[in-house]
Amino acid sequence: MTIELDRPYSPERHHSHRDVTGGWLRPAVFGAMDGLVSNFALIAGVVGAAGAGRGAVLAGFAGLIAGACSMAAGEYTSVKSQTELMRAEIAVERRELARDPEGELAELTAIYRARGLDADLAARVAAGLSADPEQALRVHVREELGVDPDDLPSPYLAAGSSFCAFAAGAVVPLAPFLFGASGLAVALVLSLVALFVFGAAVARMTARPWWLGGLRQLALGAGAAAVTFGLGHLLGVTVS
Ligand SMILES: [Zn+2]
Repeated sequence: MTIELDRPYSPERHHSHRDVTGGWLRPAVFGAMDGLVSNFALIAGVVGAAGAGRGAVLAGFAGLIAGACSMAAGEYTSVKSQTELMRAEIAVERRELARDPEGELAELTAIYRARGLDADLAARVAAGLSADPEQALRVHVREELGVDPDDLPSPYLAAGSSFCAFAAGAVVPLAPFLFGASGLAVALVLSLVALFVFGAAVARMTARPWWLGGLRQLALGAGAAAVTFGLGHLLGVTVS
């Protein structure tokens, strides 16, 4: 890689990468898929047992709310405990920097030596970055914990986006019933189309052929719905 010093260096201009850290799109698509598959299967089960009446609408609505809340709660707990752990480790690093600045400087120097800088340059970079205590803390946290202390993930944002993602997927098989559909047909077609689209979208992120990802997701979702429809039918026959 060459850096031309006569103009400002921009990593974007160099070349582009896929977003390997995931960003927001990946969990959103997975959450929506989750909502779609689980609510499609739930509604199919109720329709199999009791037909496409009020029960299917109520089950689909309850399934949407219950699933979205469960996803949000799980995501909140997961991100919250992760950020608490990070904050505790950042506090350890802050105490260590205050207690033993020499040792921390030596540690940072060793990190840059291990990255391939020669001893003199590593010492100068480490000393330069350690001059300001706040800057030193950020550098240590980034190098040792691999996180940006000014940009920790928000558990509320994570919870809110999982809720919305799940609900967006779960509303697909429910919507036709809300508009007065009397059978499973419209919900079935909508859900199969959405399964294919979500599967294709996930495949696009992983560089697999989009149609293969779409077909695989369609088969998985249709399989789940067929199983619950069959079980619901058996149960409906037994109960009534
Ligand atoms: Zn350190």
